[in-house]
Amino acid sequence: MDMKWSLSELYSSFDSEEFKNDMVSFENSIQHINIWTLENCNNSNNPKEKIETYINFQNEFNDLVNKLYNYAELSTSVDTKNEVASKKSERIAFKLSELAKSSTIFSKWLNSIDDLNSIIEHSPLLKAHSYYLMDLAKNAKFLLNDAEEELMAKMKNSGSDAWSRLQNVLSSNLIVDITINGEAKKFPLSMVRNMAYDKDKNIRKNAYESELKAYDKIAESSAFALNSIKGEVITLSKTRGYESVIQNTLENSRMDKETLDVMLSAMMESLPSFQKYFKKKAELLGHFSGLPFYELFAPVGNVNMHFTLDEARVFIVKNFRSFSDKLANYADNAFAHNWIDSAPMEGKLGGAFCANLHSIKESRILSNFTGSFNDVSTLAHELGHGYHGLCLSKESALNSDYPMPIAETASIFCETIISNAAIASASKEEAFVILENDISSSAPVIVDILSRYLFETELFKRRENGSLSVNELKEIMIKAQNDAYGTGLDENFLHPYMWICKPHYYDASSNFYNFPYAFGLLFSKGLYAKYLKSGDSFTRDYDALLSATGKNNLVDVAKMMDVDLHSIEFWRSSLKLIELDIEKFINMK
Ligand SMILES: [Zn+2]
Repeated sequence: MDMKWSLSELYSSFDSEEFKNDMVSFENSIQHINIWTLENCNNSNNPKEKIETYINFQNEFNDLVNKLYNYAELSTSVDTKNEVASKKSERIAFKLSELAKSSTIFSKWLNSIDDLNSIIEHSPLLKAHSYYLMDLAKNAKFLLNDAEEELMAKMKNSGSDAWSRLQNVLSSNLIVDITINGEAKKFPLSMVRNMAYDKDKNIRKNAYESELKAYDKIAESSAFALNSIKGEVITLSKTRGYESVIQNTLENSRMDKETLDVMLSAMMESLPSFQKYFKKKAELLGHFSGLPFYELFAPVGNVNMHFTLDEARVFIVKNFRSFSDKLANYADNAFAHNWIDSAPMEGKLGGAFCANLHSIKESRILSNFTGSFNDVSTLAHELGHGYHGLCLSKESALNSDYPMPIAETASIFCETIISNAAIASASKEEAFVILENDISSSAPVIVDILSRYLFETELFKRRENGSLSVNELKEIMIKAQNDAYGTGLDENFLHPYMWICKPHYYDASSNFYNFPYAFGLLFSKGLYAKYLKSGDSFTRDYDALLSATGKNNLVDVAKMMDVDLHSIEFWRSSLKLIELDIEKFINMK
């Protein structure tokens, strides 16, 4: 049976007194903190008390925003036409941009305090938030003056944010003309892209060709949006004093350049293995000059594993229990208390996500479960995100905010538990299918992600000198795909329009939103390898690691598990696990 999630733990409705009162106190808080910083952050009296006041304010305020914003966003996600909900989201986002000025003033003032370290040492509250405070102070040098920051935050509404909304409207309303069994049809883009998973080869090929043709209609406008967004990003990064956009992204990700470089080198080394996998898959599907792009997600093998939602629950909870009771109980509780919105529905968002509701120590999961093994694995993935939230529930709101690269650790870890369990209990043919499913979801995270990283690097380099034409963007994309996939893909069937298809390129605040996926996958695989070696003692350390992700940089988080992110051996050992799966896959048929 399908499950609808319950949001009444947040609010009973947008008309309820609780919601209205919280909106009022949200808007009042913004006004209050703006006045408070102006009055207090202009002299060096009583710094300890002032910083404590600010930290307490932020923790309380963030929990309030978490509650209000999630209520609006979650309501919209299952009913995208809910105008009341989307207006509330927009209102909250707009009001939040009014905080730019006061947070700039506070950060600069904090950075101007001479003995900040010893002040922090003398207050338990500040000591608990020392990472957050030192990070604010350190990054204050990248802030412009408060009037500029305020102006910029407001200008973004009509600049990069508006371009990004345009791109969203263009791609979500794009209608693809496609002929199926001789009949001309019109489908939305998302449906046509889903045909990449279809059993019928002709449909997959047809869908790919129709998809590429449809992009022609929005290519000019998309290129315009992309050029504008990246142009704004370059101007801002330079004005703030960053050496490059990637430095800016790494600072935001709490990751250092050395980690990125070492990880990328290990990924490049592993490419020949992935190419072998693509070639083998091509052969199995009857292609002899590499895999065409449209076959990347083609199903291989012939089994029909089907799960009801109840069966998925039993399977997940049982196998999570082999890891720990805490993880199993969390998942069981999520099913028992309707934290999941399970089935596809008209007007509901596609895909899947998990929202951690720190303010009420719960989580909500959106999925589009239809019963495939892939759907079970997606549920496990999202429950992993929720478990991460559970491990952070005792931390303050400020100490629960973790950077992008670490975000996929717990989710991929849970996926790995589930797929290993499934392989262990499957028939030979089923095991083959699950293994291939696994590799085909890891391969894009290494190989396609690498192509996106190469594309974005080149895009930023060229954008410094002016806008790029549609043809240039297509050329760079093809070059990036050739460099990453090599002979694994058939060079006559690549995807020159990936820059229209992936929304990540259009988010001005998350540039290079590609390498964090690779980090997440490889960090998580590396931890799983440790788990297999050390067993029970691992579980406790793992929980401690997850609860520390909001108050450390990545190198220090990893050190908690004796992982050295600067050592190429660590990355190689994670990749080795996938390479072994590939060997196994190749030898199975
Ligand atoms: Zn995820």
